[in-house]
Amino acid sequence: MAMSPGRLSDDHCEKDWIWEREVETASVDEVQRLGGAAWERQYRRLREASPFYARKWREAGVGGTFVGLKDLANLPFTTKQELKQALDEDPPFGSNLCVSPDQVKRVYQTSGTSGSPSVLALTRGDMESWTTMGTRTYYATGIHEHSSVLTTFGAGPFVAGHTHFVLLRIGTRSVPVAPGDTERVVFGLRAGLADTLLSTASFAQYLANRVEKDTVPLPFRGEGQGEGRGLTHVVTGGEPGGGIPAIRDHIQRVLGVTVTEVMGIGDIAPSLFGECPHQQGMHFCGAGHVWVELIDPDTRAPMQIETGAVGEMVYTTLTREAMPIVRFLGGDIVRIEGTSCECGRTSFRQRVLGRRDDMFIVRGVNVYPTAILAIVGDFRPRVTGRARVIRKGEATSIEPPVPVEVEVTERHESDAALVTAIENAIHSRLMFRSKVELVPESDFGGAGYKTKLTVQK
Ligand SMILES: [Zn+2]
Repeated sequence: MAMSPGRLSDDHCEKDWIWEREVETASVDEVQRLGGAAWERQYRRLREASPFYARKWREAGVGGTFVGLKDLANLPFTTKQELKQALDEDPPFGSNLCVSPDQVKRVYQTSGTSGSPSVLALTRGDMESWTTMGTRTYYATGIHEHSSVLTTFGAGPFVAGHTHFVLLRIGTRSVPVAPGDTERVVFGLRAGLADTLLSTASFAQYLANRVEKDTVPLPFRGEGQGEGRGLTHVVTGGEPGGGIPAIRDHIQRVLGVTVTEVMGIGDIAPSLFGECPHQQGMHFCGAGHVWVELIDPDTRAPMQIETGAVGEMVYTTLTREAMPIVRFLGGDIVRIEGTSCECGRTSFRQRVLGRRDDMFIVRGVNVYPTAILAIVGDFRPRVTGRARVIRKGEATSIEPPVPVEVEVTERHESDAALVTAIENAIHSRLMFRSKVELVPESDFGGAGYKTKLTVQK
């Protein structure tokens, strides 16, 4: 049977592989028109109902005349800190609430700026638009109605729990497991309860390492009843990693699966980017609901979204009712991988290089820890694939040698040759000296959820 573009290799179903073909294959002009119309309504809503934006725009000297989508760069950015201040000045929903409180039907406590949670209020319409974007996102990865999906994202309090509404909309079989509950994940996969796993890249990597070391017996496939296909697809999210070749290839090889990745932004939408089975970066899946700009990470000047461009993404919610956000600095630095795809989707594709907060500077050059992960991963099976950069204090500039901790299996805890080999590889590929310290798995910290890529010590 001929393989369809945009479909997983073992998926022979008859359904379209694009959820909302009309929107997802629309021309650039059509997407601009769709976004522009939504933005006009949103702008009016903000002018009338948001004391927060009324003041912000007044202070920025933006007059009362309409600012179109093409001139969005004339409006000021919004930071996470400002959103928190808006909440504090008029609790519990803040001075940016644009609906009456009785229209708020769901409230998430998102991660705040300084430890204390922030509040995100949604109307029924807001939840519906999240589900729309999320459904395009997960459907794009190859998850279809016939999939059985084991999720480890939890149901709350974090926004990733919204994925459960999305899977219901697609019509998959859902097998929810609490984040970090490795035993239930392993049991579920061995019992043949699921052919698809949703997890962080760290967790998928941890699972692959355990399988490789034989502490978890193979096979995952061919056991149990029903279709008996076993695990064929892993969708990673919550952190970069699923897109780093050294990490992806390892998970694919050991588990015998296809890895695709998804990404969301807590304050904007829990699922906004999804990678199709062509595995060439994550498609933007928010057309009509979210507007994305690319800016220079250093000067914050607008950049063209074109293949090869590297910049920071800025998000504007076009249809959000309760708490609209304009030009949100999400802190994600990405590389644009393309603006078309064999799957037929016309939205741009991107890969995350890292968080702005994780970026550091060595002799004037920006470096993201994902670049180090990509190198370290080549030293399997001596290393596990996890690594982090150690920073002294707040400074973003690091004087070489750059301190790097690399997680290793217990046998390689004091492998001096390995230290030298990794340091040499970093030097030849990233052009700076590093000081590698090997840390055994028992000391590196939990692998169940996200891995911090830089730590201050
Ligand atoms: Zn595609």
